[in-house]
Amino acid sequence: MRSISLMLAAVLIAAASPVHAQHSAPQPVTPIDWAALDSETVHILSDYLQVNTTNPPGNEMRGVRFLQRILQQNGIEAQILDTAELGATRGNLYARLRGNGSKKAIALVNHIDVVPATPADWSVPPFSGAIEDGYVWGRGALDMKGEGIVQLMAMIALKRSGVPLTRDIVFIGNSDEEAGSTGAEVFAEKHRDLLRDVEFLLTEGGDNRVEQGKVDYFGVGVAEKRTFWQRLTVKGVASHGSRPTPQNPVPRLVAALDKLAHYETPLHVTPGVQKYFHDISRTYTGEHRQWLADVTAALQRPTARQWILANVYWNAILRNTISLTGLSGSNKTNVIPSEASAELDIRLLPDQDPAEFLATLEHVVNDTSVVWQSLATPRAPLESPIDTDLFHAIERAARERVPNALVTTPMLTGATDRPEYRQLGIITYGFDPFLVEASDAQRGVHGHDERVSVQNVGFGVRYLYDVLRYVQ
Ligand SMILES: [Zn+2]
Repeated sequence: MRSISLMLAAVLIAAASPVHAQHSAPQPVTPIDWAALDSETVHILSDYLQVNTTNPPGNEMRGVRFLQRILQQNGIEAQILDTAELGATRGNLYARLRGNGSKKAIALVNHIDVVPATPADWSVPPFSGAIEDGYVWGRGALDMKGEGIVQLMAMIALKRSGVPLTRDIVFIGNSDEEAGSTGAEVFAEKHRDLLRDVEFLLTEGGDNRVEQGKVDYFGVGVAEKRTFWQRLTVKGVASHGSRPTPQNPVPRLVAALDKLAHYETPLHVTPGVQKYFHDISRTYTGEHRQWLADVTAALQRPTARQWILANVYWNAILRNTISLTGLSGSNKTNVIPSEASAELDIRLLPDQDPAEFLATLEHVVNDTSVVWQSLATPRAPLESPIDTDLFHAIERAARERVPNALVTTPMLTGATDRPEYRQLGIITYGFDPFLVEASDAQRGVHGHDERVSVQNVGFGVRYLYDVLRYVQ
């Protein structure tokens, strides 16, 4: 592990050395002492990780007050909002650093809550904020208190250094992303006035890919799939299992599920996904490179198609997917139940019509005794344009850190709070401020021993600070 990390460490450290001044970006009036700021940031993150905002129940008000105090200490007024709707122990935080107003604002959005942690599974207590072995440890270090503090400190660095801003920088901390997303929902619904001048928004949902110390790409999340969960129910007549009847609902349900399991959803390439494959093609050779450079064309060819779809992530970003998950029938071997049901985890590509897809599935099953029930209304579709000032600012900042870095647009197969803001017309990107080994991210996010390296914390603040300067 140590030797592997050397290359990555070099990238992280290199980023802390002075970057060439670029002509068009606004410069600080007062120079920043980055070493001091890094250390301050690490300690603030450690303190923030000690604020237990496990959701449920959330208790995000503790985190709201923590962030508000730091903003106010730095002369940035921060308002606590939406406690009436969310409850006294919860709320959203809103702050704004003013620019000259000649361009529209950019919002930095983070969620204050974290998923539960089981202390017995961890090497350090999950709410200790321990700074050990070059890491800051704790639930939320990666998802997403670490990014929240990077946003906070990048904004504070802009303020302290007096960088002339054309765009206001808006900071929003939301409650409840991990459970019901009620924080972002209420904020987007109630505070359209505060968001009216916001052109761009950065939050979680990007994914920089680092493997064995090598940065494969910087990922900007421009799109995510939409969950469209369904429950299928078949009713029958309960009776004794020793005398089979045609009214047993289980075989009927199984037949429906079998058809769905064998149904191949059509392949469909969205613009962001086409770009993603084209971008990563340069890291391949031979026919693989040729195929990925134009994935739409490659999918017409059986060999190429088979190779591409064998990758479970690639398959999932090229089509609507259906996973058969929950299943229930009788709880006794000798009882024919009166009802059998199954749950489907359906994920739609952002430009797909849920009603139309449901009609297709009903047609595939072709059995009116199967009753379909949507478990939640799908959220607004999320796909943001790529050719924007913010995207180019991210490219520029990334390439200053890793020469010729690939900056691409992997689609998220999961879900975030972004659709709540995107539906207001805001160009919304998932942004990852860290270069974390894939194995560390895999283990830590919603898992055990979540942690972020001290080097990454400093890297993240400087990286976002530059992105925010370059987008002015
Ligand atoms: Zn998160």
